[in-house]
Amino acid sequence: MLRADARGIVVFSVKGVDALKQPFSGLKRSDHLRAMAEKELDLLVIGGGITGAGIALDARTRGLSVGLVEMQDFAAGTSSRSTKLVHGGLRYLKQLEIGLVAEVGKERAIVYENGPHVTTPEWMLLPVIEGGTFGRTGISIGLFVYDRLAGVKKEERRRMLSPEETLQREPLLRKEGLKGAGLYVEYRTDDARLTLEVLKEAVKRGALAANYAKAENLLYRDGKVAGAEVVDTLTGESHRIYAKKVVNATGPWVDELREKDGSKTGKTIQWSKGIHIVTDQKHFPLRHAVYFDAPDGRMVFAIPRDGKTYIGTTDTEYHGDLARPRMSAEDRDYLLRAVNGMFPSVRLTADQIESGWAGIRPLIREEGKPTTEISRKDEIFLSKTGLITIAGGKLTGYRKMAQRVVDRVCAELAEEGAGPFGPCVTERIPLSGGDFGGSDRFPAFVEEKAREGTGLGLDEREAQQLVRRYGTNIDKVFGLIASRGKEAEAYGLPPSLYATLIYAVEEEMAATPADFWVRRTGDLFFDIQRVKRWKEPVLACMRDVCGWDEETCSRRRADLDRCIQEATEFV
Ligand code: FAD
Repeated sequence: MLRADARGIVVFSVKGVDALKQPFSGLKRSDHLRAMAEKELDLLVIGGGITGAGIALDARTRGLSVGLVEMQDFAAGTSSRSTKLVHGGLRYLKQLEIGLVAEVGKERAIVYENGPHVTTPEWMLLPVIEGGTFGRTGISIGLFVYDRLAGVKKEERRRMLSPEETLQREPLLRKEGLKGAGLYVEYRTDDARLTLEVLKEAVKRGALAANYAKAENLLYRDGKVAGAEVVDTLTGESHRIYAKKVVNATGPWVDELREKDGSKTGKTIQWSKGIHIVTDQKHFPLRHAVYFDAPDGRMVFAIPRDGKTYIGTTDTEYHGDLARPRMSAEDRDYLLRAVNGMFPSVRLTADQIESGWAGIRPLIREEGKPTTEISRKDEIFLSKTGLITIAGGKLTGYRKMAQRVVDRVCAELAEEGAGPFGPCVTERIPLSGGDFGGSDRFPAFVEEKAREGTGLGLDEREAQQLVRRYGTNIDKVFGLIASRGKEAEAYGLPPSLYATLIYAVEEEMAATPADFWVRRTGDLFFDIQRVKRWKEPVLACMRDVCGWDEETCSRRRADLDRCIQEATEFV
């Protein structure tokens, strides 16, 4: 039930708990934190990647009062650094992880249904090469089993292609030894935007969430975890946030928090680094996504996207800085060798790489196994203090992981006399921007809204791109384009760029230029020239909107410059 309190703030009333409903604005971060500290929450989630975001949405839709704190920007950990596929995990079939394949395969369909604007079906070629990992029969059987296990819809089931059909689809593939290909569907996503859409939906429903809010220490009552001392890293303000239950969803950092809790015993996390590189289509004019053998037998993706091709990934044990992993020249050369082996006419060189990223997989250690062979399964660790840790897992399986965690939270709350709370309902909850009344209506929606966009002066390509990115939230972005053109002019910014920036700050809690360029638009990875071109006007605009002094402005500029350097340099 919604009502306005004396201050005019909308209050969302759930089973006697009044959760303050705050706009998800970069200018309202402190309000979210203060509201979290105001009274004891049912649940505090630490970590704002896809895992934490999924837990916040699930818990909120069951009626719990929820707060989420993220020490960097949302998705700035692993959840903006993946291969960006909502996928069935075909490669886990090779490791006979039948349960995992079945679960993530089915989840993929749910993620698509709830957010077709952040998940796009993409036909993928799996070439059969003489002497390769799988023969033609192996691939055919593997994909058949995969289709059945993952419950793949009929029209997306695998097909086997002859060498000629394969080359028709992708003429750049190596002809020598080519025996044909398997053709199957994967779903391309923008991992950071997926995280944001999940979180925006949670906040719309009354969850509180703040980025740049670090859980420095855990708080205890009678030996039981009862909240966290959270520091706003942009203002230095500290907040004591109490909650009946605390979940550690900090991905690669879960052991750090378990250590603070005195519960880092038993299974621990092993880090593995994976990088991706991006080149322009003029250097690698790939038409079709391909999943292929690297010379060492590992599988690598090459995926066309928005005029670029991206390639990844690597898998190497990691022990460095978790927040800022770097791409090495060795990682890059490995991917170049893989590309040039499978697409010999391309001759991709290091100086043709425009951008890239490195990410850390938080794997649950299995003694004696290399990172490439460790299971991607998730697991819940329970500590004596009551801290609930969720470790491992995949972007694709986030909803199921959240369900398992919140089931646990609700069961514990019920034992303690709280609730009752409802069952998990997220299977049928559209994500923010995803409410089309069914994914089958999405193409018509894009067409209709893109026409509206061209009416506002956008070219067809950009109009389509914006509608696909924002889904049903596009009206807000178009509204800004229509009404605030004069302000855009004052900064010398194109109206569409200005509108997406204002939307990012006011509706997606972007608090720094890096938040905007890396995780709200993805331009740092897929259009780095655009970042360089508009960097200063965007900074000037954010300075005014956010009220920064010169020193803050310089810090934000330096932070973005560092992100650009990390995306373009190999160490
Ligand atoms: P994160 O996204 O890392 O989130 C944890 C967050 O906790 C971080 O943002 C961190 O800043 C925050 N945090 C840490 N400590 C604190 C604290 N004290 N206070 C507050 N906040 C804190 N999966 C797929 O399904 N498909 C793929 O294509 C795919 N490709 C991948 C490719 C690579 C190279 C990698 C590395 C992973 C890939 N994955 C993929 C796996 C997937 O990306 C991860 O499983 C997922 O993103 C992990 O999300 P998370 O929320 O658990 O962790």
